[in-house]
Amino acid sequence: MRNSADVVVVGAGIIGSSVAYNLARLGVRDVLLLERDGVAAHASRLSAGLVRTHYSNAPEARLALAGTRWFENWSEMVGGDCGFVRTGLINLVTRSDHEKLRRNVAVLKEVGIDTHLVGPEELVELEPDIRVAEDELAAYEPRSGYADPAATTHAMADAARRLGAELREGVEVTAIRTRGDRVAGVETSAGPVETSHVVLANGAWSVPLAGAVGLELPIRALAIRLAFVPRPSTMRAGRAGHAVVLDRAHGAYTRPEEDDLSLVGLVAFRDPIADPGAYDVGRDPGFERQAIGQVAVRFPGFAGASVARAHSGPIDMTPDGCAIIDRAGPEGLLLAVGMSGSGFKKGPAIGACVAEMIVEGGARTSPVHAFRLGRFRDGDPIVSDAYAIAPESAAVLGPDNMVH
Ligand SMILES: Cc1cc2nc3c(=O)[nH]c(=O)nc-3n(C[C@H](O)[C@H](O)[C@H](O)COP(=O)(O)OP(=O)(O)OC[C@H]3O[C@@H](n4cnc5c(N)ncnc54)[C@H](O)[C@@H]3O)c2cc1C
Repeated sequence: MRNSADVVVVGAGIIGSSVAYNLARLGVRDVLLLERDGVAAHASRLSAGLVRTHYSNAPEARLALAGTRWFENWSEMVGGDCGFVRTGLINLVTRSDHEKLRRNVAVLKEVGIDTHLVGPEELVELEPDIRVAEDELAAYEPRSGYADPAATTHAMADAARRLGAELREGVEVTAIRTRGDRVAGVETSAGPVETSHVVLANGAWSVPLAGAVGLELPIRALAIRLAFVPRPSTMRAGRAGHAVVLDRAHGAYTRPEEDDLSLVGLVAFRDPIADPGAYDVGRDPGFERQAIGQVAVRFPGFAGASVARAHSGPIDMTPDGCAIIDRAGPEGLLLAVGMSGSGFKKGPAIGACVAEMIVEGGARTSPVHAFRLGRFRDGDPIVSDAYAIAPESAAVLGPDNMVH
């Protein structure tokens, strides 16, 4: 392994791989991407891979839109296969949130997102099996869908390597070295590396590394779960067999998986974990029953489905549920962490932003000021016009289900 680099990127999930690729694209020759385990070993392998732009705050929506453009143009922008399937996305909310939905859709349109409101008739045209009441309202985004998170991350890391970045797997960064108030290098399990720039892209594992250079990151490690179940025979088969359905009213979501399964998840179901690596929390029949039950509110054919497989994965949660993308601490240190369970779709764009911050002095792909670390200290978090859960589902899932 080289013992000096222009930029050291810590972590080869989607974020670090994208930072490395975008640095190489912008002409940085000497990029070293260090990964303790393997490419896409953790969150970026286990993600649901939803690629959506419906958010209830504009800064995240802008980043998600910028990310979606990458998935839509993957072969030209990256190469390889990210497995993007454009299914469209239906975002359902509870009745008391219809005004909020109208407001959010107006904001999203201003951001440039292709989305519109749909009522029950159009919903049934889109998804013949869906159960909706006569006064129901949803937002539809035709360009959204899902991608294969591991394939996406590998394609990004491969592209970085093709442009000259060096990827080292099995190498752990153990400390950031400073000289005066500047970054001077990193200590690693394979020896020291001199560098003037370090990008932390290692999720909740970043907390102790940043802490050792005086930077307190408000990030909590949590585990979230997914289950994969047989798709009802009345629904279309295939990888684009149904839309991504994000049912805020009932706290659940689903997308197709392979030809004849569907993924089911609960938007706010999170297990606290002692450290970011302890996310394999085992099967939870309670979660599986609830996720299937809540998806079955809209698609009754899922009721009582057996679980084909299930897994859990780590998320790195910040107090406002939005990422930290910033320069902070010693000069030369950049943060791309705290993705809060929503970083996959934005990963390509976040990588571009961070590379632009290093090479061009500022992000041009999407504004990142709102994502600065200091917002927590300054009492200026990103505020979301988030949706509530319907009373009948709050009784099943508990009240704490606001999500953006
Ligand atoms: C079950 C689940 C479902 C999700 N669904 C979605 C979704 O539908 N859409 C969406 O946009 N997002 C989703 N997310 C979130 C998304 O997957 C993550 O935000 C994203 O993958 C984070 O990427 P990352 O590169 O920051 O982290 P990771 O992929 O975890 O990568 C961090 C890497 O850093 C490495 N590392 C740690 N410490 C060190 C060190 N000291 N030295 C070297 N390497 C180190 C780790 O080994 C790891 O490989 C989901 C997440 C989970 C778990």
